[in-house]
Amino acid sequence: MALIVQKYGGTSVGTIERIQAVADRVIATRDRGNQVVVVVSAMSGETNRLLGLSSQIEKSPSAREMDVLLSTGEQVTIALLSMALHVRGAMAKSYTGSQIKMLTDDVHSKARITDIQCDEMRVDLEAGNIIVVAGFQGVAENGNITTLGRGGSDTTAVAMAAALNAQECQIYTDVDGVYTTDPRVEPRARKLDRITFEEMLEMSSLGSKVLQIRSVEFAGKYNVPLRVLSSFEEGEGIGTLITKEGDKMEQAVVSGIAFNRDEAQLTISGIPDTPGVASDILGPVTRANIEIDMIVQNVGEDGTTDFTFTVHRNDYEKALGLLQETGKKLGARKTRGNDSIVKISLVGVGMRSHAGIASNMFAALARESINILMISTSEIKISVVVDEKYLELGVRTLHNEFDLDRVI
Ligand code: ADP
Ligand code: ASP
Ligand code: MG
Repeated sequence: MALIVQKYGGTSVGTIERIQAVADRVIATRDRGNQVVVVVSAMSGETNRLLGLSSQIEKSPSAREMDVLLSTGEQVTIALLSMALHVRGAMAKSYTGSQIKMLTDDVHSKARITDIQCDEMRVDLEAGNIIVVAGFQGVAENGNITTLGRGGSDTTAVAMAAALNAQECQIYTDVDGVYTTDPRVEPRARKLDRITFEEMLEMSSLGSKVLQIRSVEFAGKYNVPLRVLSSFEEGEGIGTLITKEGDKMEQAVVSGIAFNRDEAQLTISGIPDTPGVASDILGPVTRANIEIDMIVQNVGEDGTTDFTFTVHRNDYEKALGLLQETGKKLGARKTRGNDSIVKISLVGVGMRSHAGIASNMFAALARESINILMISTSEIKISVVVDEKYLELGVRTLHNEFDLDRVI
């Protein structure tokens, strides 16, 4: 008997009707002869609603209490789904993160899973139960409730699949797979039947929210077969399978386009070009626990340095304040920031063996008069930062340039 882990995201359990539909799908999976573990998110909008409630009380609430609050969303869904399964005559048991001992470190709001104790769950499964697990939450060694970061139910599901050695981990969402880019931004985006782990990792880390990055890391590390599917489609689609590179059928040079609206850019200019200057600039920012993404430094003819980097938009004000202090200390000509930028990235393992992709990318953007503010490249991706007003135009232009469009 095969074991399947299915995860249903917020919109898939957003109403009672949707929860009923999920129950039907779970039963159908069981009736095909499988054991089923279901991981669910909070009903859509619920996590944001809870965040809104807390912000009416305190701007920066205690991280411990925040996790206690946010974990309630998923607890509602596991109970409702279990009830819907009972009504259909199935045996089902719900579990919170601490009940299944989804052990994590103690970093509230972005905890990492360290262990899952599955013995009890296996007994329940053998007894014929469907197991319904609350996504996004775990428990630290000291008993505190933790959460895994936004979109973290994906990671719960993959971790469960790895721990239980499941045949497949199926991520049910509101699109029927991974597309060449977000279909909400480019309606001509094409569904991919397969994508490699490496490409999916890049897509997720560069802003594609269809899978949380940690879920992809986990699936790659523990060899969990991972598939993205729609919970809105009748019957069983094939969705998108995340595969190892050798398994890939067609080898496009560019597989997809990701974008990230959450970044902000900071620049300090006219500082002396001396050893240690980069660490003088970034030191205070990293010590304030602000993550830095892209960095560009260049030295002008007058021998002074201009230094630009990007941070998450939530950290923009704080980073700008720190940079202004550094600017005063180093005698900078100017410090400035821009929080209306976006990063657009081309991703594809095929880029390794193809030269000229970057220049085609830049030429296509230039034809649309889109000015590039920053560039960064790796073996399998090219990212540019542009003004946020060019997001849609930039994505669509590149989608067309690299023949990713579906014929409509
Ligand atoms: P869930 O609530 O099910 O976890 P999410 O909203 O987290 O769903 O993820 C699904 C959404 O991801 C889609 O509605 C789509 O807008 C977005 N998305 C972004 N990039 C892509 C992509 N490349 N392919 C498919 N969906 C994408
Ligand atoms: N409910 C959480 C969120 O909205 C976790 C998830 O849906 O995966 O981010
Ligand atoms: Mg999600």
